[in-house]
Amino acid sequence: MEFQHLIAGRAHAVDASGIRKIFDLAASLKDPANLSIGQPHFDVPGNIRQAASAAIEGRRNAYTPTQGAPDLRQAITRLLAAEFPATLGTAGPDQLPDDTGLLVTSGVSGALMLLMMATIQPGDEVIVPDPYFVMYKHLVKLFGGTPVFADTYPDFQLTPARVEKLITPRTKLVLLCSPGNPTGVVSSQANAEELARLCENKGVLLVSDEIYDAFCHEMSEGKCPSPLRVSRNVVLLRGFSKTWAMTGWRLGYMAGPKAVIDQCTKLQQYSFVCAPSMVQAAGVEALKTPIAHHVADYKKKRDRVVERLSPHYELTVPGGAFYAFPKVPARLGMTGTQFVHAALAKNLLTIPGGVFSERDTHFRISYACADAMLERGLDLLVDIAK
Ligand code: PLP
Repeated sequence: MEFQHLIAGRAHAVDASGIRKIFDLAASLKDPANLSIGQPHFDVPGNIRQAASAAIEGRRNAYTPTQGAPDLRQAITRLLAAEFPATLGTAGPDQLPDDTGLLVTSGVSGALMLLMMATIQPGDEVIVPDPYFVMYKHLVKLFGGTPVFADTYPDFQLTPARVEKLITPRTKLVLLCSPGNPTGVVSSQANAEELARLCENKGVLLVSDEIYDAFCHEMSEGKCPSPLRVSRNVVLLRGFSKTWAMTGWRLGYMAGPKAVIDQCTKLQQYSFVCAPSMVQAAGVEALKTPIAHHVADYKKKRDRVVERLSPHYELTVPGGAFYAFPKVPARLGMTGTQFVHAALAKNLLTIPGGVFSERDTHFRISYACADAMLERGLDLLVDIAK
Protein backbone atom coordinates (compact mmCIF):
# COMPACT_ATOMS: atom_id res chain seq x y z
CA MET A 1 0.00 0.00 0.00
CA GLU A 2 1.07 3.57 -0.69
CA PHE A 3 1.20 5.66 2.47
CA GLN A 4 2.13 9.09 1.15
CA HIS A 5 -1.47 10.24 0.81
CA LEU A 6 -1.87 9.63 4.55
CA ILE A 7 0.88 12.06 5.54
CA ALA A 8 -0.18 15.52 6.75
CA GLY A 9 1.21 18.61 5.06
CA ARG A 10 2.70 19.78 8.35
CA ALA A 11 5.04 16.80 8.43
CA HIS A 12 6.35 17.81 5.01
CA ALA A 13 6.76 21.41 6.19
CA VAL A 14 9.85 20.39 8.14
CA ASP A 15 12.87 18.50 6.86
CA ALA A 16 15.04 15.97 8.63
CA SER A 17 17.56 17.40 11.06
CA GLY A 18 20.72 18.51 9.28
CA ILE A 19 22.69 17.24 12.25
CA ARG A 20 21.34 13.74 11.62
CA LYS A 21 22.47 13.97 8.00
CA ILE A 22 26.04 14.69 9.13
CA PHE A 23 25.88 11.85 11.65
CA ASP A 24 24.74 9.48 8.87
CA LEU A 25 27.68 10.58 6.73
CA ALA A 26 30.01 10.17 9.68
CA ALA A 27 28.87 6.63 10.44
CA SER A 28 31.49 5.33 8.01
CA LEU A 29 34.39 7.14 9.75
CA LYS A 30 36.72 5.19 12.02
CA ASP A 31 37.45 6.87 15.35
CA PRO A 32 36.92 10.43 14.08
CA ALA A 33 37.89 13.52 16.08
CA ASN A 34 34.31 14.14 17.07
CA LEU A 35 33.54 17.78 17.86
CA SER A 36 29.88 17.48 16.98
CA ILE A 37 28.14 16.21 20.07
CA GLY A 38 25.50 18.40 21.69
CA GLN A 39 25.61 16.86 25.13
CA PRO A 40 28.03 16.67 28.06
CA HIS A 41 30.75 14.05 27.83
CA PHE A 42 30.41 13.10 31.50
CA ASP A 43 27.82 10.62 32.75
CA VAL A 44 24.85 11.34 35.01
CA PRO A 45 26.32 11.69 38.54
CA GLY A 46 26.04 8.48 40.62
CA ASN A 47 23.73 9.86 43.29
CA ILE A 48 21.22 10.90 40.60
CA ARG A 49 21.40 7.48 38.92
CA GLN A 50 20.81 5.87 42.31
CA ALA A 51 17.87 8.17 42.99
CA ALA A 52 16.26 7.05 39.71
CA SER A 53 16.81 3.36 40.54
CA ALA A 54 15.52 3.90 44.07
CA ALA A 55 12.43 5.60 42.66
CA ILE A 56 11.72 2.62 40.42
CA GLU A 57 12.27 0.13 43.26
CA GLY A 58 10.31 2.41 45.58
CA ARG A 59 7.39 2.11 43.17
CA ARG A 60 7.33 5.66 41.87
CA ASN A 61 6.26 4.24 38.54
CA ALA A 62 2.76 5.58 38.08
CA TYR A 63 1.65 8.76 36.31
CA THR A 64 2.48 11.86 38.29
CA PRO A 65 0.19 14.89 38.30
CA THR A 66 0.39 16.53 34.87
CA GLN A 67 2.01 19.67 36.30
CA GLY A 68 4.77 17.59 37.93
CA ALA A 69 5.47 15.58 41.09
CA PRO A 70 4.89 17.72 44.21
CA ASP A 71 8.42 17.23 45.63
CA LEU A 72 10.07 18.27 42.37
CA ARG A 73 7.74 21.25 41.96
CA GLN A 74 8.57 22.29 45.49
CA ALA A 75 12.33 22.07 44.85
CA ILE A 76 12.05 24.06 41.59
CA THR A 77 9.83 26.65 43.26
CA ARG A 78 12.42 27.22 45.99
CA LEU A 79 15.17 27.55 43.44
CA LEU A 80 13.24 30.06 41.31
CA ALA A 81 12.03 32.13 44.26
CA ALA A 82 15.63 32.41 45.47
CA GLU A 83 17.14 33.16 42.07
CA PHE A 84 14.52 35.70 41.00
CA PRO A 85 13.52 37.47 44.23
CA ALA A 86 12.08 40.58 42.54
CA THR A 87 9.82 38.71 40.14
CA LEU A 88 9.20 35.19 41.48
CA GLY A 89 10.17 35.47 45.16
CA THR A 90 7.55 38.01 46.20
CA ALA A 91 5.22 35.40 47.75
CA GLY A 92 7.97 33.88 49.95
CA PRO A 93 10.63 31.20 49.53
CA ASP A 94 8.23 28.26 49.02
CA GLN A 95 5.63 29.75 46.78
CA LEU A 96 5.46 31.39 43.39
CA PRO A 97 3.26 34.46 42.93
CA ASP A 98 -0.40 33.63 42.20
CA ASP A 99 -0.15 34.78 38.60
CA THR A 100 2.92 32.63 37.86
CA GLY A 101 2.67 29.05 36.63
CA LEU A 102 5.16 26.20 36.70
CA LEU A 103 5.01 23.05 34.59
CA VAL A 104 7.40 20.10 34.68
CA THR A 105 7.95 18.90 31.11
CA SER A 106 9.57 16.14 29.09
CA GLY A 107 12.71 18.14 28.46
CA VAL A 108 12.93 21.69 27.17
CA SER A 109 11.87 20.23 23.82
CA GLY A 110 8.58 19.22 25.42
CA ALA A 111 8.16 22.70 26.87
CA LEU A 112 8.89 24.33 23.50
CA MET A 113 6.38 22.07 21.78
CA LEU A 114 3.64 22.84 24.31
CA LEU A 115 4.38 26.56 24.26
CA MET A 116 4.18 26.76 20.47
CA MET A 117 1.06 24.62 20.46
CA ALA A 118 -0.55 26.92 23.01
CA THR A 119 0.36 30.21 21.34
CA ILE A 120 0.99 29.86 17.60
CA GLN A 121 -1.66 29.71 14.96
CA PRO A 122 -1.35 30.07 11.20
CA GLY A 123 -0.08 33.52 10.25
CA ASP A 124 1.56 34.22 13.61
CA GLU A 125 5.17 35.30 13.68
CA VAL A 126 7.93 34.28 16.05
CA ILE A 127 11.20 36.18 16.19
CA VAL A 128 14.01 33.65 16.16
CA PRO A 129 17.66 34.60 16.62
CA ASP A 130 19.79 33.53 13.65
CA PRO A 131 21.83 31.38 14.21
CA TYR A 132 19.25 29.36 16.14
CA PHE A 133 18.69 26.08 17.93
CA VAL A 134 17.29 23.97 15.08
CA MET A 135 14.08 23.03 16.80
CA TYR A 136 12.81 26.64 17.01
CA LYS A 137 12.36 27.13 13.30
CA HIS A 138 10.68 23.80 12.71
CA LEU A 139 8.32 23.97 15.68
CA VAL A 140 7.09 27.40 14.61
CA LYS A 141 6.40 26.04 11.11
CA LEU A 142 4.72 22.92 12.49
CA PHE A 143 2.00 25.09 13.98
CA GLY A 144 1.61 27.19 10.82
CA GLY A 145 3.62 30.12 12.14
CA THR A 146 6.35 32.06 10.40
CA PRO A 147 9.83 32.19 11.88
CA VAL A 148 11.16 35.72 11.44
CA PHE A 149 14.92 35.60 11.72
CA ALA A 150 16.83 38.23 13.64
CA ASP A 151 20.28 38.16 12.08
CA THR A 152 22.79 38.35 14.94
CA TYR A 153 26.05 38.01 12.99
CA PRO A 154 28.84 38.64 13.78
CA ASP A 155 28.59 39.02 17.59
CA PHE A 156 25.53 36.76 17.99
CA GLN A 157 23.77 39.06 20.45
CA LEU A 158 19.99 39.27 20.24
CA THR A 159 19.80 43.01 20.87
CA PRO A 160 16.60 45.08 21.20
CA ALA A 161 17.62 47.02 18.06
CA ARG A 162 17.81 43.81 16.04
CA VAL A 163 14.45 42.65 17.38
CA GLU A 164 12.42 45.85 17.40
CA LYS A 165 12.45 46.37 13.64
CA LEU A 166 11.02 42.87 13.16
CA ILE A 167 8.04 43.18 15.51
CA THR A 168 4.69 43.41 13.70
CA PRO A 169 1.08 43.08 14.89
CA ARG A 170 1.42 39.36 14.12
CA THR A 171 4.42 38.77 16.41
CA LYS A 172 3.59 36.51 19.35
CA LEU A 173 6.93 35.38 20.72
CA VAL A 174 10.56 36.46 20.80
CA LEU A 175 13.02 33.63 21.49
CA LEU A 176 16.19 34.30 23.44
CA CYS A 177 18.72 31.50 23.84
CA SER A 178 21.53 32.38 26.24
CA PRO A 179 24.04 30.83 26.67
CA GLY A 180 23.38 30.07 23.05
CA ASN A 181 23.35 27.02 20.86
CA PRO A 182 25.20 26.98 18.42
CA THR A 183 27.35 30.00 19.33
CA GLY A 184 27.88 29.73 23.10
CA VAL A 185 27.32 33.49 23.30
CA VAL A 186 25.83 34.87 26.53
CA SER A 187 23.60 37.94 26.62
CA SER A 188 24.64 40.58 29.13
CA GLN A 189 22.17 41.23 31.94
CA ALA A 190 21.61 44.76 30.60
CA ASN A 191 20.78 43.43 27.13
CA ALA A 192 18.40 40.80 28.54
CA GLU A 193 16.64 43.49 30.57
CA GLU A 194 16.29 45.87 27.63
CA LEU A 195 14.90 43.04 25.54
CA ALA A 196 12.42 42.21 28.31
CA ARG A 197 11.26 45.85 28.45
CA LEU A 198 10.87 45.99 24.67
CA CYS A 199 8.74 42.83 24.65
CA GLU A 200 6.62 44.14 27.52
CA ASN A 201 6.03 47.42 25.71
CA LYS A 202 5.12 45.69 22.47
CA GLY A 203 2.84 43.12 24.10
CA VAL A 204 4.79 40.08 22.93
CA LEU A 205 6.05 37.28 25.13
CA LEU A 206 9.78 36.80 25.66
CA VAL A 207 10.82 33.15 25.81
CA SER A 208 14.13 32.61 27.58
CA ASP A 209 15.70 29.26 26.77
CA GLU A 210 18.24 28.83 29.56
CA ILE A 211 19.03 25.16 29.12
CA TYR A 212 22.78 25.96 29.31
CA ASP A 213 22.47 28.25 32.35
CA ALA A 214 24.78 26.05 34.44
CA PHE A 215 27.56 26.43 31.87
CA CYS A 216 27.85 30.20 32.03
CA HIS A 217 31.16 32.00 32.44
CA GLU A 218 29.90 35.57 32.04
CA MET A 219 27.93 36.00 35.21
CA SER A 220 26.13 39.06 36.46
CA GLU A 221 25.99 39.30 40.27
CA GLY A 222 27.07 35.68 40.50
CA LYS A 223 24.27 34.37 38.30
CA CYS A 224 23.72 33.63 34.65
CA PRO A 225 22.02 36.69 33.09
CA SER A 226 18.25 36.34 32.63
CA PRO A 227 15.43 38.67 31.59
CA LEU A 228 13.28 37.06 34.29
CA ARG A 229 15.20 39.02 36.91
CA VAL A 230 13.26 42.14 35.98
CA SER A 231 10.22 41.05 33.98
CA ARG A 232 7.39 38.60 34.47
CA ASN A 233 6.51 38.84 30.79
CA VAL A 234 8.94 35.96 30.29
CA VAL A 235 8.51 32.23 29.83
CA LEU A 236 11.58 30.61 31.34
CA LEU A 237 12.70 27.26 29.96
CA ARG A 238 15.20 25.23 31.93
CA GLY A 239 16.32 21.64 31.69
CA PHE A 240 18.20 18.79 33.28
CA SER A 241 19.61 17.37 30.02
CA LYS A 242 22.78 19.42 29.84
CA THR A 243 23.44 20.34 33.48
CA TRP A 244 23.40 16.76 34.77
CA ALA A 245 23.92 14.97 31.43
CA MET A 246 20.39 13.55 31.62
CA THR A 247 19.69 13.99 27.89
CA GLY A 248 17.99 10.64 27.50
CA TRP A 249 15.91 11.02 30.62
CA ARG A 250 13.68 13.80 29.31
CA LEU A 251 13.17 16.33 32.05
CA GLY A 252 12.76 20.10 32.02
CA TYR A 253 10.39 22.77 33.21
CA MET A 254 8.75 26.01 32.17
CA ALA A 255 7.71 28.91 34.36
CA GLY A 256 5.92 32.08 33.38
CA PRO A 257 2.58 33.87 33.22
CA LYS A 258 -0.07 31.53 34.66
CA ALA A 259 -2.46 32.25 31.80
CA VAL A 260 0.10 30.76 29.39
CA ILE A 261 1.40 27.93 31.58
CA ASP A 262 -2.17 26.78 32.35
CA GLN A 263 -2.81 26.28 28.64
CA CYS A 264 0.45 24.35 28.27
CA THR A 265 -0.55 22.18 31.25
CA LYS A 266 -3.89 21.40 29.63
CA LEU A 267 -2.16 20.45 26.38
CA GLN A 268 0.32 18.26 28.27
CA GLN A 269 -2.66 16.31 29.65
CA TYR A 270 -3.50 15.23 26.12
CA SER A 271 0.01 14.68 24.83
CA PHE A 272 2.98 13.91 27.10
CA VAL A 273 0.66 13.35 30.13
CA CYS A 274 3.58 13.86 32.52
CA ALA A 275 7.36 13.75 32.54
CA PRO A 276 8.75 10.28 33.45
CA SER A 277 7.96 9.63 37.11
CA MET A 278 11.28 8.08 38.21
CA VAL A 279 13.16 10.84 36.40
CA GLN A 280 11.20 13.48 38.27
CA ALA A 281 12.19 11.78 41.53
CA ALA A 282 15.83 11.81 40.41
CA GLY A 283 15.39 15.47 39.40
CA VAL A 284 14.97 16.38 43.08
CA GLU A 285 18.37 14.81 43.74
CA ALA A 286 19.87 16.51 40.67
CA LEU A 287 18.91 19.95 41.92
CA LYS A 288 21.04 19.26 45.01
CA THR A 289 24.02 18.03 42.97
CA PRO A 290 26.81 20.52 42.24
CA ILE A 291 28.62 20.24 38.93
CA ALA A 292 31.12 23.05 39.49
CA HIS A 293 34.07 20.81 38.54
CA HIS A 294 32.50 20.07 35.15
CA VAL A 295 31.79 23.75 34.58
CA ALA A 296 35.43 24.57 35.41
CA ASP A 297 36.57 21.82 33.04
CA TYR A 298 34.43 23.22 30.22
CA LYS A 299 35.72 26.71 30.88
CA LYS A 300 39.27 25.42 30.48
CA LYS A 301 38.30 23.69 27.25
CA ARG A 302 36.61 26.88 26.07
CA ASP A 303 39.79 28.84 26.75
CA ARG A 304 41.82 26.26 24.85
CA VAL A 305 39.48 26.45 21.83
CA VAL A 306 39.76 30.24 21.76
CA GLU A 307 43.53 30.14 22.17
CA ARG A 308 44.05 27.62 19.37
CA LEU A 309 41.44 28.83 16.87
CA SER A 310 41.45 32.62 17.23
CA PRO A 311 44.70 33.10 15.28
CA HIS A 312 43.20 31.22 12.32
CA TYR A 313 39.45 31.81 12.43
CA GLU A 314 37.10 34.70 13.09
CA LEU A 315 35.60 33.55 16.37
CA THR A 316 33.25 35.28 18.81
CA VAL A 317 34.35 34.16 22.27
CA PRO A 318 31.67 31.88 23.67
CA GLY A 319 30.67 32.87 27.20
CA GLY A 320 28.97 29.59 27.97
CA ALA A 321 27.34 26.32 26.84
CA PHE A 322 29.98 24.06 25.25
CA TYR A 323 30.00 25.30 21.68
CA ALA A 324 32.03 27.61 19.49
CA PHE A 325 30.93 28.92 16.08
CA PRO A 326 33.95 29.93 13.99
CA LYS A 327 33.69 31.42 10.52
CA VAL A 328 35.13 29.56 7.58
CA PRO A 329 38.11 31.66 6.44
CA ALA A 330 37.19 33.52 3.23
CA ARG A 331 40.55 32.47 1.81
CA LEU A 332 39.31 28.87 1.60
CA GLY A 333 36.40 29.90 -0.62
CA MET A 334 34.10 27.33 0.96
CA THR A 335 30.61 27.34 2.41
CA GLY A 336 30.14 25.95 5.90
CA THR A 337 28.87 22.70 4.40
CA GLN A 338 31.84 22.39 2.04
CA PHE A 339 34.19 23.06 4.94
CA VAL A 340 32.55 20.37 7.08
CA HIS A 341 32.89 17.89 4.21
CA ALA A 342 36.55 18.82 3.81
CA ALA A 343 36.99 18.24 7.55
CA LEU A 344 35.19 14.90 7.31
CA ALA A 345 37.77 13.84 4.75
CA LYS A 346 40.38 14.46 7.47
CA ASN A 347 38.39 12.38 9.96
CA LEU A 348 37.04 15.40 11.84
CA LEU A 349 33.40 15.79 12.68
CA THR A 350 31.80 19.27 12.97
CA ILE A 351 28.39 20.67 12.03
CA PRO A 352 27.84 23.15 9.18
CA GLY A 353 26.48 26.55 10.19
CA GLY A 354 23.75 26.21 7.58
CA VAL A 355 22.06 23.69 9.87
CA PHE A 356 21.49 26.46 12.42
CA SER A 357 21.17 29.47 10.18
CA GLU A 358 19.90 30.98 6.97
CA ARG A 359 23.60 31.54 6.20
CA ASP A 360 26.13 28.79 5.57
CA THR A 361 29.34 30.59 6.43
CA HIS A 362 30.34 29.13 9.79
CA PHE A 363 30.57 25.77 11.51
CA ARG A 364 29.81 24.58 15.03
CA ILE A 365 32.18 22.69 17.21
CA SER A 366 31.30 21.20 20.57
CA TYR A 367 34.10 20.97 23.09
CA ALA A 368 32.15 18.58 25.31
CA CYS A 369 34.72 15.85 24.84
CA ALA A 370 37.91 14.53 26.42
CA ASP A 371 40.97 16.80 26.22
CA ALA A 372 42.83 14.41 23.91
CA MET A 373 39.93 14.36 21.45
CA LEU A 374 39.65 18.13 21.59
CA GLU A 375 43.37 18.60 20.92
CA ARG A 376 43.21 16.22 17.97
CA GLY A 377 40.25 18.15 16.56
CA LEU A 378 41.90 21.53 17.12
CA ASP A 379 45.12 20.33 15.44
CA LEU A 380 43.08 19.33 12.39
CA LEU A 381 41.19 22.63 12.35
CA VAL A 382 44.43 24.61 12.52
CA ASP A 383 45.79 22.40 9.74
CA ILE A 384 42.80 23.01 7.49
CA ALA A 385 42.94 26.77 8.04
CA LYS A 386 46.59 26.82 7.04
N1 PLP B 1 17.19 24.26 23.81
C1 PLP B 1 18.44 24.28 23.36
C2 PLP B 1 19.09 25.59 23.06
C3 PLP B 1 19.14 23.07 23.13
O1 PLP B 1 20.40 23.12 22.65
C4 PLP B 1 18.49 21.85 23.39
C5 PLP B 1 19.17 20.57 23.11
O2 PLP B 1 20.14 20.48 22.42
C6 PLP B 1 17.17 21.88 23.86
C7 PLP B 1 16.56 23.10 24.07
C8 PLP B 1 16.40 20.64 24.13
O3 PLP B 1 16.82 20.01 25.28
P1 PLP B 1 16.03 18.88 26.04
O4 PLP B 1 14.76 18.62 25.32
O5 PLP B 1 16.92 17.70 26.09
O6 PLP B 1 15.75 19.44 27.43
